[in-house]
Amino acid sequence: MGESAPTAAPAAPHAVARLRAERLARSAKPFLARGGPKGERCAGCRLVPSHCICALRPQVPTRAGMCLLMADIEPLKPSNTGWLIADVVADTFAFGWARTEVHPGLLALLADPEWQPYVVFPGEFVPPERVVTQVAPEDAPNGKRPLFILLDATWPEARKMFRKSPYLDRFPVLSLAPEQVSRYRLRRSRRDDHFCTSEVASLCLELAGEGAAARVLDAYLDVFTHHYLQAKHQLPPDLEGAAHAHLRAAMAQDGRNHASAPTSG
Ligand SMILES: [Zn+2]
Repeated sequence: MGESAPTAAPAAPHAVARLRAERLARSAKPFLARGGPKGERCAGCRLVPSHCICALRPQVPTRAGMCLLMADIEPLKPSNTGWLIADVVADTFAFGWARTEVHPGLLALLADPEWQPYVVFPGEFVPPERVVTQVAPEDAPNGKRPLFILLDATWPEARKMFRKSPYLDRFPVLSLAPEQVSRYRLRRSRRDDHFCTSEVASLCLELAGEGAAARVLDAYLDVFTHHYLQAKHQLPPDLEGAAHAHLRAAMAQDGRNHASAPTSG
C-alpha cells in the first residue's frame, strides 16, 4: 500500500492526521473541542505548542499493521489515541466509518494478500467458531502480516459498526483473553477493563510477539496523557517525570532488540 518504508519522514502527516484534515474540511462550522486545552495547537501532535511532543515521537519497526475504523467525530477529538498508534506504527491505516458507504481503499486493504486481518472485538458477541485469542506466528505457513482492525469509537458506536460492516464478516474476531487483560492491568496499574484504542493496539502488538513495540506505545500514551493534562491545567510538563523515564527506557529496550536481530520486511 506504499506505506511500508520503515524510515518514513517524520513530518509527513500520517493516516489519522489526514483523516482529521479531511473531516475538518467537511465540517460546516468549526469543531469546538470540549474539555481540551484552548488556543493554538501543534499540527503534529494536537497539543498546545508549549507542550508539543513531536520531538519525542517514537517510530518502531513492526511486522503488524493497524487499521483504524473511526467513528465520524473520533478524528476530531483532541484526546483521540488512534493518532498515537499512527505515530508509532508506520503501517497504520485509518478510514472514517459510515453505515451506508465503505471507502474503496479499505476494501483494497482488506483484499491485499500481504495482510491477515483480525477484527478486534469481544468474543462474547460473536459465534464461537469465528473467535480467536491468538495471532498466527511469523513462521506460520501463509506468512501473512497481521492487520489489526480496531473500531475507534464509543462502545455503542463500535457495536453498531461491527454489526453493520458486512465486509468484515469473513475475518476472524480477535478477542482479548481475560488472562492477558489482567496481566496488562497489573503492569499498567489499571483498575478497570475500559481500555482506550491505543491500549488495545498495545495488547494486539503483544499477541503478535512485538512486546517491545507494545511497551513503547504504552509509554508514549503516558507521555501524551501527561502533556495533555498539564496543558489543561496550565502547568509545564515534567520532562524528568515517570512518564518520560518510562518512554526513554522502552525506546532503549526496543533499540537493543532491533540491534540484535536482523529487521525483516
Ligand atoms: Zn507537536
